[in-house]
Amino acid sequence: MQHDTKKYRQIFESKSPEEIEEMNQLNDEEHQRQAESFKTGYEKGICYLCNKPFKTISNNDPCLHWLLRQCRFKKKDFPKIYEKYGYGNIAAFIRWCANQERLLSNINDLEDEKSDRKVLSYTVKWKNIEWTFDCSKNDFEGHKGTSIDYPHYHFQMRIDGRQFINFNDFHVPFTDQDLFVLKNSVEQGDWFKQNFGAIGSGMQEAVSVELVDILEHTTRSDNEDEATYHLSTMIDASDNPITGDEIYEIQQEVERTGKTFAYVAQKKLKERAKVQTVISPADSIPDIASRTEHKRR
Ligand SMILES: [Zn+2]
Ligand SMILES: [Zn+2]
Repeated sequence: MQHDTKKYRQIFESKSPEEIEEMNQLNDEEHQRQAESFKTGYEKGICYLCNKPFKTISNNDPCLHWLLRQCRFKKKDFPKIYEKYGYGNIAAFIRWCANQERLLSNINDLEDEKSDRKVLSYTVKWKNIEWTFDCSKNDFEGHKGTSIDYPHYHFQMRIDGRQFINFNDFHVPFTDQDLFVLKNSVEQGDWFKQNFGAIGSGMQEAVSVELVDILEHTTRSDNEDEATYHLSTMIDASDNPITGDEIYEIQQEVERTGKTFAYVAQKKLKERAKVQTVISPADSIPDIASRTEHKRR
């Protein structure tokens, strides 16, 4: 089905601020409601969609919780899931799960690490499982002249680092809703963005936060594996050297308050030295698994 994204944008832009406000509010409320019931269930190991424990599998009731592989889910069962749930639903569910274990940094959806040729390319990690969505422009248009001439994406699932579902096992069709959302984000990206809600955000969201906010609201982590950001701080005090005592004082305050070294140094030394902090995603975030595309004749 064709989606004229310019027209959608026009329709949207013709709405009054009040109408837009109302739409957003309804959207937020619905999201809030789902997020709450997801969380309540998750804590008890129960799936909020089918109301069954994550450990159960009922073949006549395919469900997204199968992807957590707490039950006897097999590769050949995957089509049952994608025939029922679109990309958007699958992605939201596993993103939500990932964020329950470790906020933001289990989802590597960094734009910088995604190639321009891709519509989708990102990895989500949850416990011992890693899922990757991959869709090139070619996949999005369908492989012309083949039987796979419909818009689709590829999906990889690894358990303990071992292949469980390979990228080339399936050409997973997008639903019409998916195409609507993705086409709008590709063609009208300055205005439209796919949003998985606050509990579905990943690293792209994390690095889009203002630097000052990051410094002010982050706390130090002793364990690099749990960190969201990596902060490196450079102190240029060439005109007015900093003493060991000062560094010690900063270190003490860091330990006392749990704030980052970068934050305390900025605060204490800003009068007399140039303190520069570079914020980058922590090294421990998952790598985006890459797919080798085979050229077809
Ligand atoms: Zn379920
Ligand atoms: Zn393909």
